Amino acid sequence: MMQRYLEVKKETPGTILLFRMGDFYELFHEDAEIAARVLGLTLTSRDKTSSNPVPMAGFPFHALDGYLKKLVAAGHRAAICDQVEDPKTAKGMVRREVTRIITPGTLTEDSLLDPKRSNFLAAIFPEKERVGLAWLELSTGRFQCAEVSLVAQSRKNAKPFAALRTGPTGPRLEALFDELARLQPAELLVSEDWRIDPVVVALGTIPDLVLTERAPWSFVPARCVDVLKNHFKTATLEGFDLEDDSPAVFAAGALLDYAREMQRTGVDHVMKLEPHRRGSNLLIDDATRRSLELTRTLRDTRRDGSLLAVIDETVTPMGARLLADWLSNPLTDVPAINARLDAVAEIAADRSFAGDVQSLLKEAYDLERLTARVATLRASPRDLSSLARTLALLPRLKARLAGRHCAKLRSLEGNLDLCAEVRRDIEAAVVDEAPLNVAEGGVIRPGFNAQLDEFRDLSNGGKQWIADYQRQEIERTGITSLKVGFNKVFGYYLEVTAANAAKVPPEYVRKQTLKNQERYITPPLKEYEDKVLRAEERALALEQEIFSRLRERVSQECRRLQQTAEVLAQSDVLTGLAVLAVRSNYCRPQVVADPVLDIREGRHPVLDRVKLSGEFVPNDVRLGRTGDVASPDLSTAPHILLITGPNMAGKSTYIRQTALLTVMAQMGSFVPARSAVIGVADRVFARVGASDELSRGQSTFMVEMTETARILNSATERSLVILDEIGRGTSTYDGVSLAWAITEFLHDEVGCRTLFATHYHELTELQTTLAGLANANVAVREQNGDLVFLHRIVPGAADRSYGIQVARLAGVPRDVIDRADVILKTLEADHHKETGELTIPARKPRRKIHALQMNLFDADNHPVMSGLRDLDPAAMTPDQALDELTRLKSKA
Ligand code: ADP
Repeated sequence: MMQRYLEVKKETPGTILLFRMGDFYELFHEDAEIAARVLGLTLTSRDKTSSNPVPMAGFPFHALDGYLKKLVAAGHRAAICDQVEDPKTAKGMVRREVTRIITPGTLTEDSLLDPKRSNFLAAIFPEKERVGLAWLELSTGRFQCAEVSLVAQSRKNAKPFAALRTGPTGPRLEALFDELARLQPAELLVSEDWRIDPVVVALGTIPDLVLTERAPWSFVPARCVDVLKNHFKTATLEGFDLEDDSPAVFAAGALLDYAREMQRTGVDHVMKLEPHRRGSNLLIDDATRRSLELTRTLRDTRRDGSLLAVIDETVTPMGARLLADWLSNPLTDVPAINARLDAVAEIAADRSFAGDVQSLLKEAYDLERLTARVATLRASPRDLSSLARTLALLPRLKARLAGRHCAKLRSLEGNLDLCAEVRRDIEAAVVDEAPLNVAEGGVIRPGFNAQLDEFRDLSNGGKQWIADYQRQEIERTGITSLKVGFNKVFGYYLEVTAANAAKVPPEYVRKQTLKNQERYITPPLKEYEDKVLRAEERALALEQEIFSRLRERVSQECRRLQQTAEVLAQSDVLTGLAVLAVRSNYCRPQVVADPVLDIREGRHPVLDRVKLSGEFVPNDVRLGRTGDVASPDLSTAPHILLITGPNMAGKSTYIRQTALLTVMAQMGSFVPARSAVIGVADRVFARVGASDELSRGQSTFMVEMTETARILNSATERSLVILDEIGRGTSTYDGVSLAWAITEFLHDEVGCRTLFATHYHELTELQTTLAGLANANVAVREQNGDLVFLHRIVPGAADRSYGIQVARLAGVPRDVIDRADVILKTLEADHHKETGELTIPARKPRRKIHALQMNLFDADNHPVMSGLRDLDPAAMTPDQALDELTRLKSKA
């Protein structure tokens, strides 16, 4: 056994080997020590008496999933070596083989996966100017690949990226990093040969990304292509719209090779390789994705609080994953977007449809992942009964989808394959509440197989005989407490209390003496035991065989099941979006090809949800282009909006909400607004807040400028750019000058729709020179010297920055506030003098120290003083002033 162990161990380097022995998985040597640490198992040893005992640890086989979860979470890979022969029929030692290797990217167990998140395995293939990238979600079989350019996709005339190289990656790799940020792969395959390749070196800097090195031959292009052709059984990959010489294909081949090696039982559910083309999606780079908090929040990277969490009204895990996919990959094709919107609109208009569909879908199991488990022959009996139950819902779903008008819902109905024979086959064979494990028996329905029924009858009949035998022996011996028991060591026995031992007839053979009992066997008992056990054994073996055949048969229908799973996922997402639209009072956006935006009474989807109703102040945004013929009413609208106003007024909220509404519209969702015309954007850029980048060791200002450089170099006139507080991390003059020049460049050279929130008032002057720029500000009202934020965006520049008032609201001491006021006035006055030197009046300590004067109450803390301080004479009528004076006098 240990010899076999060592052989297997050699075959699976770099993994923790779980070796099945009877009802346990055992670990030896170093693996046992790691397991003791990571899994909290007790470390024992084999051959304790030898001079060199082998460290050993183990756990019962049924606890496998739990322990795997811990091992994988701790960053380990685990190989599972199972008994592939029935121990009872095996000649000599039971044959053991590695049945699968678990790695972070190849998980398929529900218990190890987050139902709402896709878990991707990815591979790259770097070339000089492009990188091939492939990714596979093994738990569903979805397999895609793309070519990512390493040459900056810049607008013409843009400066080459090389000049902006920063950090270990350099902007050359940004497109690749963006793709990886979108996918968040759990594991990425590279060749051992590429350790010094700059691409791989850069990937090594991404936190939490597990890089798995593979032997160089598994990345040999010809081999990669062969792996794919053999798997898909095609002579060429042209049918997938892929070229045989693309690095994307090489990456895909190397990936599939690995997946097969890890899975062992096959990856037949991977039925196609889809090329992912960048042009058909709205591009959202990594920084933008994070700062817009599309799928996770910026601060604690949680799903809660992200846009995804707010718009998720799906009721199945398949739907939740597809929704995340749509949100991460919004479309750019107007008809495709409208097809989704049509469906959402149609569902939203029907009062009962969504409720009916959702209550059906709620009953469905994760058909996508079930299908994958069937295909890899890993489905349990319970999985098959879940599958049948899910299929049983389909006729009702199909009926509900029938008679719809829009193309999308009609095609869903058409593609919904009921897989009736699959369901019939499972239902005929498997009991309704099937157990998890086929080895326990009780999987196959009575009446399905005559032979099986016979074995079961025999075993049951034997049991009946044994019950009768017990009764008969009680009568014969007069020992009323006599009973028949069973254990694994002795099989059936007769048990008698010690007190009655004397009454036992002579033909009883004593087998075991316990403290208070004696156990015996008799020849007739053993004879029947043999019958019962043999029949039981044969029944179990037959059940396993029938079950395996059934699973095999169902696995032939994978393609149809996958198609149906896709229909369920899409129905769920579209219905969820309709429910969201109705519940949250969203409107259907009018999606157009022109680069315009006309949002009336738009709301921030996340804040709108968390604030009480009516608390969120809606705002309009209108961006267009002078002389735009297609949208004449927007032809006078600016394409750059410069928003000034005090901190906390709502500037960032306003510009983010505009970007979010665009993303939502392009994914096919309704949007939180009274009405919205959304011109499709090719890219969205958000340059907002960079504090989270500090941990990466770059200064805030450097990060800000790197991101800005990227926007200036790659935005096109179809892009939407939102900028918040550019130039914060440097001196005011530098900051203003940069922001000024950046705005001019965006206006003159790029011409993209831009929302720029800034506290630099100087920039508002740009309106006089840039025709396509307009000023806006956030309305505030001053009340008794306090600020009231109205959160309403109004045309024109803010007249003051109100920084000092905001500081006061935040509780900065009055002394400091007053002093700042004096300095501000001086600075403002100074600003207008051409020559004057800056003279700030000296600070007068307000708190005079009166020598020798003992005061019980400090005058400053006197209620009259604080009352006076809070007065704002300018805001009072003479009557109010007189009243106040009387009140104060009474306290003096
Ligand atoms: P700024 O960028 O101007 O400093 P923020 O956009 O960060 O301001 O907004 C500050 C706070 O004001 C936010 O936390 C939000 O709760 C609130 N707020 C912003 N916009 C609105 C609005 N339109 N309606 C209601 N509250 C808002």
